[in-house]
Amino acid sequence: MDEKFIAGVDIGGTWVRVAICTADLHEKRIKKRVTKTRKENKYSISNSVCQILSELLSENNIRKEQLLGIGIATAGPLNMKKGEVFNNANLGFRVIPLKEPIRKKFPEIPIYFINDCNGSALGIHFFEAEDEEKDNLVYITMSTGIGGGAICNGHLLLGKEGNAAEVGHALVEPKSKFKCNCGAYGCWEAYSSGTGVQNRALDTLKDGKLNADILMQIVNNDKTKITAKEVFQAAKKGDVLSKKIIEDCIFYTKVGIGIVNNYYDCSSIYFGGAMIKDKEQIIPPLIEQFEKDPLRFTINHPPKIKLTRYKDEIGLIGALALVKYKIEKHKIIL
Ligand SMILES: [Zn+2]
Repeated sequence: MDEKFIAGVDIGGTWVRVAICTADLHEKRIKKRVTKTRKENKYSISNSVCQILSELLSENNIRKEQLLGIGIATAGPLNMKKGEVFNNANLGFRVIPLKEPIRKKFPEIPIYFINDCNGSALGIHFFEAEDEEKDNLVYITMSTGIGGGAICNGHLLLGKEGNAAEVGHALVEPKSKFKCNCGAYGCWEAYSSGTGVQNRALDTLKDGKLNADILMQIVNNDKTKITAKEVFQAAKKGDVLSKKIIEDCIFYTKVGIGIVNNYYDCSSIYFGGAMIKDKEQIIPPLIEQFEKDPLRFTINHPPKIKLTRYKDEIGLIGALALVKYKIEKHKIIL
């Protein structure tokens, strides 16, 4: 009998990743490809997904019929049933249909959809988590935005359309003047995401109250070059303004973790996302806080704070795990 395979896709604002793997999801047998996210029209993304997947299959001498399913993890918000993304600020169109155009090229093959952070939680569950934390874990991405996925009592929380655990939009500062990417004020994302750190640095610079000589030196006096990366770098070198912004980023992440743990009572929180490149500035203070003085932020027993070892690929391996759990009718996603 022909060997069976699983396909996974991760769609983000900057990159589209595609993978195929044998049905056992043995890590060494995952074959991956990555491409820039195309935004010419609302079908550009589904077209490039189909093209890359077809290439991966033919290069590995696999026929479409050998696929057990295609898992698609995408930046949200998403309508899981319709298989489309709506109101996403980074993908270029108000509604982006994915399921129908992909189904046309891969008829007869089951296609499963998931919000990328929820998918990442599944990926951690399958590939990374220890037995004692598996059934109660949360994944949090700190990237352009902040997003989350929660497994509670061994069950992945999805919500009515697949967008549960949007933890980045938890209100952490009620009277805040800082606007979030979602349009509201004072969200965790407005303080601790990449765009949050960038916007706050620019705003505080305008106030002119804190010294930012080191930061300005790093960007050759060109404010337009300031991103979260430069703010982290300047903070490390002692820049007063940058230190304040990073301190706030970390403080509000503690508040966010506290909210997450009060809501989901989790054993572990795994962090991922582009900002974790500066993990030595972010993670140790979080671990210290929740080991030594958790009650300041959460009433429940504190979670362990960890980093996913899959970095940028956690969404992709989550998409693979989604298919495996779906075809096995695993209780985590029934
Ligand atoms: Zn928000």
